[in-house]
Amino acid sequence: MKESANGRRYRPDTLLTHLGRRPQAQMGAVNPPVYHASTILSANMAEWEEKRDPKKRFDIVRYGLLGTPTTFALEEALAGLEGGYRAMLLPSGLAAITAPLQALLAAGDHLLMVDSCYGPTRTFCDHVLRRCGVETTYYDPLLGEGIARLIRPNTRVVFVESPGSLTFEVQDVPAIAREAHKLGARVLMDNTWGTPLFFPSFARGVDVSIHAGTKYIAGHSDLLLGAVITNEETFLPVRSMAADLGHCAGPDDAYMALRGLRTLSVRLERHQRNGLKVALWLQGRPEVQRVLYPALPEDPGHALWQRDFLGATSLFGMVLKPAAKRAVFAMIDALDLFGIGASWGGFESLIQFVRPERLRSATRWSEEGPTLRLHIGLEDPEDLIADLERGFAALRQAG
Ligand SMILES: *Cc1c(COP(=O)(O)O)cnc(C)c1O
Repeated sequence: MKESANGRRYRPDTLLTHLGRRPQAQMGAVNPPVYHASTILSANMAEWEEKRDPKKRFDIVRYGLLGTPTTFALEEALAGLEGGYRAMLLPSGLAAITAPLQALLAAGDHLLMVDSCYGPTRTFCDHVLRRCGVETTYYDPLLGEGIARLIRPNTRVVFVESPGSLTFEVQDVPAIAREAHKLGARVLMDNTWGTPLFFPSFARGVDVSIHAGTKYIAGHSDLLLGAVITNEETFLPVRSMAADLGHCAGPDDAYMALRGLRTLSVRLERHQRNGLKVALWLQGRPEVQRVLYPALPEDPGHALWQRDFLGATSLFGMVLKPAAKRAVFAMIDALDLFGIGASWGGFESLIQFVRPERLRSATRWSEEGPTLRLHIGLEDPEDLIADLERGFAALRQAG
């Protein structure tokens, strides 16, 4: 954006196109150069001394680990889009979860973690945080303001992830944030599903928003990246912890994620349309017990989703009617277009056999049938439906 445009208010799609760009500082090139840099030279000792000023640690280019114009461009775009104070990049989505938890929790503190969290988040709490003397209590994702009953004097963080990993429960984030703030706790959110476009986390009361940039932001299944966006109060502690841990993102990954970000809105529009089309079709299938997708009016989380989200991305679950594992595997193997693989948010469709019942401690996942997680890509949805139809035929045949 031209300097003269500062102060104007632009809508999200316009911000997505312009934030973080400074063509006048890079010979007119539309995109920032990819700086491959560890050492950053100072012209003289006065500049060297100036760059050591601890107050400027995260504001200037002084060492590759702490950022370059390439990483600053993506950070500026992400923070501006979601309405946060500032952002930082980390090497993976998981690192973007662990660093803020380490920053805001210390020995003797208590953490409230949603029971439907991303699996490796649970592992980190149970293995690493426990060893550091932080106690974790898991809570029911459907608890709204009832969270207040679980908040203790030493509860520093309430962690939300909405919709839940694998099971897609929508949380009442504004109610949870209200109660947490009343009792002096911070609210951290894994906002990977919503993206900065579909869940404006800061407007809903979140203090720290976490993204696996690996997913929709990068969008092409070719890199790992994490991003943390904070409010003003939490920026320094979280940014300092990320630096103290030695986390940084590679320049090529930051550049490719910024390139992906520019088309996030158009990709998500199509992901959403395709996702809804396939989900509606699945809902009518006799083999399907339930589709776990808050964009569907029949979903128990639909009303909250409609109130708080600005759209639905295309990752959802489905519970099949009880069937032998062998038959479900035959179904998946019969699919031609759905890849069998971890991660999601790329341009291509994926399917995974998941076991949510193994990742619960505060609640029970009581669906009897097998659960599958689908990511709907940018293929023609009619082809995806035909593929799934072949899969169901294999399921019936093996059953
Ligand atoms: C994939 C994922 C992450 C972790 O991202 P990585 O870049 O793979 O480490 C975190 N949260 C959610 C909800 C995810 O799906």
